[in-house]
Amino acid sequence: MLLREVEYARPATIEEAIALLSGYDGARALAGGQTLVNVMKARAAAPDVLVDLADLDELRRIGFSADQSALELGAMVTSTQIGASSEVEVARPVLAEVVSTIADVQVRNRGTIGGNICVNDPTNHLPPLLVALNATMTIRSVAGERIVAAEEFLIGVYTTAVEEGELLTKVSVPTRRPGSGDAMDGVTLGAHGTYLVSAAASVSPGGVRIAIGCVSAAPVRATAMEQRLASGDFSEASVRAAAEGLGASLDPPSDVHASADYRRHLAEVSAVRAVLRAAQRAKG
Ligand SMILES: Cc1cc2nc3c(=O)[nH]c(=O)nc-3n(C[C@H](O)[C@H](O)[C@H](O)COP(=O)(O)OP(=O)(O)OC[C@H]3O[C@@H](n4cnc5c(N)ncnc54)[C@H](O)[C@@H]3O)c2cc1C
Repeated sequence: MLLREVEYARPATIEEAIALLSGYDGARALAGGQTLVNVMKARAAAPDVLVDLADLDELRRIGFSADQSALELGAMVTSTQIGASSEVEVARPVLAEVVSTIADVQVRNRGTIGGNICVNDPTNHLPPLLVALNATMTIRSVAGERIVAAEEFLIGVYTTAVEEGELLTKVSVPTRRPGSGDAMDGVTLGAHGTYLVSAAASVSPGGVRIAIGCVSAAPVRATAMEQRLASGDFSEASVRAAAEGLGASLDPPSDVHASADYRRHLAEVSAVRAVLRAAQRAKG
């Protein structure tokens, strides 16, 4: 289907982009276009103005915070960039590992970290991973800048903490500390297909964070399992015991690919596998 007519703007600065987004009702940021253009073609979205972020080099940067405590990924950093980044390899290699399994080369070349989490499709790879990694998102508007934790950022499908007139500029991920390890597991439709259920885990000397994807409109923290593992016993028996009841605590959807009960089962299995692998990596 052909696109409905739409105004197109390609700002040269972040300030200009924000002015455009806040100056027009129905203005929408355009990142890699991998989802937005498709939903526009399907007439599921009909923005009046597209604000293309392609020229905003600042949003394509990968670097570190001034005190080196966080890896900083500009909102326009693509999956391919993350996969090839030496900074990511040093600071949080699980990000590169996970994005390399997203869809295909074309989607990874165009799709951005900002677009991935602003869509917040429950089957997307990055939302649960960024919750497990305790990432924060920087959002800018004419009023200034605010920082939001991943859990508060990811509200529902296509619904995030980014409000009208605002722009996501950066995702910050704490750099890996000695004795920590991360992993993501799950079951996909085909080798590089979308997830039926996913689980991301981050083990550190301070404890474990576990996030489950595809079981709700936004990633769900497995807090009871996290608390049972607070002793730091990551033996297989302990992790399996900690996962008991996780599935029952969830209210996942049923669809043509999997029943709710099957997703509950997959959530427990995926969480166990993710935590065991993260704990193994934490040992070095
Ligand atoms: C065939 C196909 C298969 C896919 N499979 C997977 C998969 O298995 N796993 C997975 O994780 N992903 C998958 N994706 C999604 C893909 O990885 C991208 O993350 C996604 O398409 C959106 O990224 P984008 O940069 O193209 O954003 P766009 O499509 O340009 O934008 C998406 C939305 O985010 C908003 N937005 C984008 N950037 C910003 C910003 N900086 N500030 C405010 N709002 C912003 C836009 O306004 C729009 O509403 C798939 C995509 C396709 C086309």
